[in-house]
Amino acid sequence: MSDADAEADPEFVFELRTCRWAEREWPPEAGEGDAEDAGDDCPAIVARQLGTKRRRWDTIVVEVDPAALRQRTNFGPRRLDSDLLDVIPHAPPDWEWYRDALPDPGYPWRYVRESIHRAADRGILDVRKRNNRIEIRRKWAYPDWVERIVAIENKPDLDASAARHLAPQLEYDVALSLADEVWVATRATGESVEPALLESVPVEAGILTLDPDALATGGARTADVEWFPRSLDPDAPGTRVLERGEVTEYGSTASQFEYADPEWKAHKRLEIAERAYEKGWRAYAETMRPDCRYFQLRREGRTLLPYCAAKECHQTSSECSGSCPEFSPEPPQWRTRGWPIEGGPGKGIRNLLEDRRERNRSG
Ligand code: SF4
Repeated sequence: MSDADAEADPEFVFELRTCRWAEREWPPEAGEGDAEDAGDDCPAIVARQLGTKRRRWDTIVVEVDPAALRQRTNFGPRRLDSDLLDVIPHAPPDWEWYRDALPDPGYPWRYVRESIHRAADRGILDVRKRNNRIEIRRKWAYPDWVERIVAIENKPDLDASAARHLAPQLEYDVALSLADEVWVATRATGESVEPALLESVPVEAGILTLDPDALATGGARTADVEWFPRSLDPDAPGTRVLERGEVTEYGSTASQFEYADPEWKAHKRLEIAERAYEKGWRAYAETMRPDCRYFQLRREGRTLLPYCAAKECHQTSSECSGSCPEFSPEPPQWRTRGWPIEGGPGKGIRNLLEDRRERNRSG
């Protein structure tokens, strides 16, 4: 890929490249120039566009305990959502009335009963009725599979204005400390990141430069660390910045904060990790139109990137939607033949991405 192509690629494509790089080479200090083995040092699940209601991260790296991750597969590929996480990790080894076994959820018990029945339907919890009481027993112990959660913001063009825009978001991440580390990934330009840009980004955030050409061609040096992050403390109480104070000619207004307790953070981290486990980063086809006749997957090294044959470029996920003026459904006869990766029908593309997601999920 030429420099010109790299310039033209949308942020979305850079985000997919970052995800693929992280999947193979995380953590950055161990992985430089040793792409084949580096990932073994720190197995990780990579996902994109996850976070909380207020803050969504571009790329999430969930560092895992491999043995515990294997135990997690007992519960199937679907995530345990927030309500199921109030039940499954607390399920007892022997039969017990559910209200004795589970901690008070802080919301009505009838919703817990719904979650119990959902878990039973999924085959991940034993449930029975005795003396008109619902009793539960775990099928497997829910493992402690998440070691660390790392958030990466992708800013391929980290100029002064992008850095200024990014700073409050990173400050929010640092104050809340929901992730163990926060990074900014930017495109390598052949020059070092300007000190002025480094100053705009909080010192706690790491800065990583990724070389798209090396990623595309399998070059040895795909990433450089410009600045290592500080470890945050997800077990400590965090602070949500709700509103920033402003300095005006009449004085300054106060910022507004909200306290985030460690229990909320622990639950939210597990929720994010479970979503990452289910979703991975290849789920982009679910929000695009692989059933369009112009949708293709193009290989770049070991990465499959979406490509639009009508627009002759890597399209963004927002433009590749039902409202795209050039959308044209794949002809029905395509669906009856085995198609190669490029230009194949939508279902084949979805299956291919799902296969790869499954392979990475099971380590
Ligand atoms: S024409 Fe539009 S809908 Fe079809 S692949 Fe291209 S961007 Fe997506």
